[in-house]
Amino acid sequence: MSIIVQKYGGTSMANSECVKNVAEKVVNAKRKGHEVVVVVSAPAGMTDHLVNRAKEITEKPSGRELDMILATGEQISISLLAMAIKALGEDAISFTSAQVGIITDNNHNKAKIEAINTDKLLKALGEGKIVIIAGFQGVTKDLEITTLGRGGSDTSAVAIAVALKATEVEIYTDVDGIYTADPRVVPNAHKMDYITFDEMLEMAGSGAKVLHLRSVELAAKNNMPIHLRSSFSEAIGTYVIDEEEKMEHVLVRGVAHTTNNAKITIANIENTSKNIALIFKTISDANINVDVITQNYINSDRSTISFTVAQEEYDRALELSKDLGRKLKADEVYGNENVAKVCIIGVGMKSTSGVAARVFTCLADHNVDIDMVSTSDINITCVVNQDDYAKAVIAIHNEFEL
Ligand code: ADP
Ligand code: ASP
Ligand code: MG
Repeated sequence: MSIIVQKYGGTSMANSECVKNVAEKVVNAKRKGHEVVVVVSAPAGMTDHLVNRAKEITEKPSGRELDMILATGEQISISLLAMAIKALGEDAISFTSAQVGIITDNNHNKAKIEAINTDKLLKALGEGKIVIIAGFQGVTKDLEITTLGRGGSDTSAVAIAVALKATEVEIYTDVDGIYTADPRVVPNAHKMDYITFDEMLEMAGSGAKVLHLRSVELAAKNNMPIHLRSSFSEAIGTYVIDEEEKMEHVLVRGVAHTTNNAKITIANIENTSKNIALIFKTISDANINVDVITQNYINSDRSTISFTVAQEEYDRALELSKDLGRKLKADEVYGNENVAKVCIIGVGMKSTSGVAARVFTCLADHNVDIDMVSTSDINITCVVNQDDYAKAVIAIHNEFEL
């Protein structure tokens, strides 16, 4: 028998009707002859609500206590789904991560899965049960509760699928596939049948929160195909797979964006690799992820460094940068808390020149100023003013006729 892993997101689990709908889908898969493992996230809005409850008590809750409250949302979903499946006449059992043994490092709020104990899961499957696991959460070796970062239940699902050597992981959500841009921003975005792991990595890394970045990394590393589809229809969604001959070769596959970015500039410092290393070591030692980096030369000895971070980390990053600025005798250290990133992605760019020029011309034609640029062989990222992001995404989407 083949094991399939299904993951249902917050909207799919929003209320009792939704839970019953999910139970039917799960039971159908089981009755088709699969061994079914289901990973669920908290009901829609619940994790936000829990974050807010914590923030009402203190602006800076400790990572450990935040994880204690955040992990509760998923526990509501697993129990309700197990009940709903049993009501349909199939046997089911729910497990928290601690019960399974989904072991993570101890990086609270953004923990990484290190190992998964499959004993209990295989035993329950062997007994004919449908297994339901709380996504998003993990547990350290010392039984401390952790969470994997917002959106992390996709990663739980892929990690479990890999551990169980499942044939496929189906991610059920509130859209019927992966689109050429966020359908909420670009109304004429269209659904793709396939996208490569590499392209999806760039899309997820660039803010298309339809899949958690780490879930795509894990799927790519283990060649585990992901089928992303709607929990409200039977339609085939989008397959995220290794690059294949049959895939139509396109120049640009899609456009992604994030709006929760902030930019920091350390102006006019002595241009040595030691200084630059010190800046990024200080920021990374504080566990802050730096995203786009640019270095502008003032002359051969001096340069200005800019980088972006997530808005949540802006205050801390700015404080550290001001200290660094004093140490490195910078002219000035300043920030902009409201920038956005617009990213153009496609494997076809590897072998075609002139894409960047087309992007810049298109943005110029639409009066969008570009603040920073970074590129890889399949991604061009432009940092723009936050007010301009929707205009930029739509303009580029049209330019490349996606
Ligand atoms: P879930 O709770 O099921 O995990 P998410 O809200 O995390 O769902 O992800 C689904 C959402 O991702 C969609 O509602 C959509 O707004 C957003 N999204 C962003 N970029 C894309 C894209 N390129 N294709 C499809 N959805 C996208
Ligand atoms: N419930 C968690 C969140 O809202 C995990 C997830 O949805 O993947 O971030
Ligand atoms: Mg999600």
